[in-house]
Order: sequence, then C-alpha cells, then structure tokens
Amino acid sequence: MTKQQALQTLLDKIEADQALNLAGALVHWDAATTGVPEKSLPKRSAATGWLYGEQFRRFISPDTLEAIETLESVSGELTEYERIMVREYGREYRKLKAVPPDEYEAFCSLTAESENVWETAREKCDFNMMQPYYEKIIDYQRRLCDWYGYEKHPYDALLDDYEKGATVEMLDSFFDALRQKIVPLLKKITEHGNQPKEITGLFDISKQRELAPWLADFTGFDRKRGKIGEVEHPFCTTITRNDVRITTKYHEDSLLSSIYSVIHECGHAIYEQNMDENKDVYGIADDASMGVHESQSRLYENIIGRSLAFAEVLLPKLHQKFDYFKNWDADMLYRAVNIAKPSLIRIEADELTYSLHVMVRYELEKDLITGKIKVADLPRLWDDKYEEFIGLRPSNLAEGVLQDVHWSGGLVGYFPSYAIGTAYGAQMINTIKKSIDIDAAVRKEDLSPVTSWLKDNIHTHGKVYSPDELLRRSTGEPFNPMYYANYLEEKFTGLYL
Ligand code: ZN
Repeated sequence: MTKQQALQTLLDKIEADQALNLAGALVHWDAATTGVPEKSLPKRSAATGWLYGEQFRRFISPDTLEAIETLESVSGELTEYERIMVREYGREYRKLKAVPPDEYEAFCSLTAESENVWETAREKCDFNMMQPYYEKIIDYQRRLCDWYGYEKHPYDALLDDYEKGATVEMLDSFFDALRQKIVPLLKKITEHGNQPKEITGLFDISKQRELAPWLADFTGFDRKRGKIGEVEHPFCTTITRNDVRITTKYHEDSLLSSIYSVIHECGHAIYEQNMDENKDVYGIADDASMGVHESQSRLYENIIGRSLAFAEVLLPKLHQKFDYFKNWDADMLYRAVNIAKPSLIRIEADELTYSLHVMVRYELEKDLITGKIKVADLPRLWDDKYEEFIGLRPSNLAEGVLQDVHWSGGLVGYFPSYAIGTAYGAQMINTIKKSIDIDAAVRKEDLSPVTSWLKDNIHTHGKVYSPDELLRRSTGEPFNPMYYANYLEEKFTGLYL
C-alpha cells in the first residue's frame, strides 16, 4: 500500500464511519423524542444493531491496520492532522484488536441481556438476580485489563478507555483531597448549617418551556445550528457539527430540574458546536475525553449556573412567569439552587456531595478488579461506604447498589470521569478568572468572553491533545484537584456557615 492509498483508505473509512454515526444518532433521536410504534421496535433494533456492527466490521478489517502501519512508517511526511488521525486510529485499532472476537461478541450479548435483567432486579430489589451477571462482567473486565496491558495497576487499563491517561495513582490522590475537604464540611453543614428555603409547589410546564430558549441563548448554544427536544432522560447528541441537539424533561413539581438540565446539556452542545470543522474529515473533531466533555457541562451548570450573579439574572425571568417568586430576592434563590445535603441517589445529588457518590463506586470497582472483594459482598460494602462517606445507609437495594445501570451495561472505569471532569472545569475557571470578570459577564447576560476562551483553549482542539496536555496548555499546570476542592469549600462555607 502506498502512502496515498493508505491515506485514502483511512479517510474513506472515516467518511463511512461518520455516515453510519449520523444515521444511528438520527434513529436514536427519533425514538427518544417522538416515541415509536411498539410493533416497529424489533425491526428498528435489528437495523441499528446492523449499523453499529457494520461500523465495527469496517473499522477492524485488515486494510485498516495496513493503512495505519504504512502511515506510521512515513509519519515525518504527514501533515499535523494526518499524524493525529493515525495516532488516534492506531490506538483505537490496537485496543479493539487485543480482544478475542468471540469473547467480545459473547460480552455484547451478555450485557444486552444483563441490562434488561437489571431493570427487573432493581424493581424487585433482588441482588441474587444480578449477581451471576455482575460476576461474568467483572471476570471479563479483569481479562480485558490483561488484553489491553497496563504498567502499574490493572484498573488503569479500564480507566484509559474513558479518560486517556487517568491512573489509580492519580485518582487516589484526587479522591483523597476531596474526601478530606468534603466529608467534614458536609457534616458541619448538616449539623449546624444555616438551612436555605427550598423551592416547592407546582410550576406550569408551558411557562417552564418558554425559559429553555433563553437559557440556551444565555449559555451561548447556537440554536440555529441545533435544537431543543423533550425526552424522559435528557442527553445531547451530535448529528453534524452544525446540527447539535439537546433535550430536557419538564417536571411540574421541580422547576430547577429542567433549568439545570438545559444548562448542563448546553455545556456539552457548545463543546460540540465549537470544534474545528477542518478536523472533521480526519475524524479528530471529537471530544478529548469523557471527562473533558463533562467538564464543560458542569462548568456551565454549577460554577456559572449556580452562582449568585446568575441568580440575579434568573430571578427577573422567574418573576415574569411565576407569582411564587414575588417575595424572593436573588440571595434566597442563590441559596435555594445550592441546597447541599446527604442523599443516597447519585443522579439526584447536589454539587457538594456528587463526588462522594462517585468515590464509592471508584473504590468498589478498583477492589473488584484486583480481586480484593467479591461481587457477592457488594451490597454490604456499598452500604458501608455510603455510611462512611455520606453518613446515610440505604434502606433497600434500589437506593443502594442496584441504582445505576452502568455495571449491568458492562461499563467499569466510567464513573470516575464524572468527578474528574468537574474538577477539570474548576481548574479552567480558575485560569479564566485571571483575565475575565465572569460574574460581570453573567450579569450582562453575555458569556461570550468565557465561551471564546473555552473555544480557543479547549473546544477547537478536538482530539489533538490528551486531557492532561489540554490542561497544561490552557491553565499552565497539570491536573490539580485542589482548585475543585478549594472552590467547593469556599462556596459552601460561605453559603452555610
Ligand atoms: Zn453530562
């Protein structure tokens, strides 16, 4: 294969891959936002299964490796984007190739079945139903660590799938730093904190719906290059760089739920919209990692969206729509959107306690992978850890070890990205603040200085840099969890003590 043939082979594969992605994303959007006739489901899932299978087959074929090896041997002659394309596709190819195909297929069927069983097991609070699935999944993940290879800790191999370069060494010190700040602070807040007034009552959904476009415009989401849909579980999906869609769900009894899910998903969408289109043909206009994606959504949702400055601009909008707020001032709203208390369900957790929920899962996963603990002991160990970190003990398995779908779907090593991403965001904001008055921008309802910084330093680079390189280049230092720990301490001490 000549250099030219090799380049063409990879570029063709990327084009096909993007076409299949686009089709898959549209089918998913259609099903999630409009609902589909139940009778069409079997044919639809078979068709989407084929699409993803085709994507896999095209990628893993021998000519991909030949093209990668040819281009690696002439890397000095390649352009920058071509070199990054070869690096990224080479890395992905070798990881996938390390897994025996029959094992991979068996694992896919196992997790498809296990996710279904999990629904019932959670409803019935029956761990025995899940135990054999979890055992097989953990067993596969332990073998996966060997197939992938690792230097120090086997769990490093799994982490790398979601957060390039993340290791147990890095996460141990990250979670240690957080635990030392958050656990005593949460205890103080719970015992003698100044408790805020909660927002209660019912809020007309049609009025909530009118807020969404304003929230989207406020964050800088370009609605001409995307749209807002309604679903059961909110998500963001990229059809093309110029068609990025977000979703939300309106709850009559929870006004904050849709407000913050819109801001969160806009953070994801802005990242997708601001990637450099010139990198698209090389398949490298994509997120640097899950953690970096999550850093954007949480930075907008929490650091900006739950600031006093934002409460000051949000309150007049709420006054216009809901009589409920007529006696509220911005400080009351700021405190109400930042209520922090020990809780059992991760997806409902507040900004302060969220990372503790992730820490429970991280510690258990790590010990399952080394064989230090057994799947059979998970329910008890889960409850013990919740008691230790959060101060609450679940009263049943649905609010305990069976609450998340991830493990039944075979995702092990995924959870830490949620917490690391949040901490990346705090580190970025710390740098942005040195040159931009973020609160002033919020009060002017013009976040463009912040979004431009993020676009130039993070978004536009796509996959060019690893998460660590992105942080070093944009903030001048490697990942430092203290920015996040200090931010939480300062904010919640101010709010409660
Ligand atoms: Zn997210």
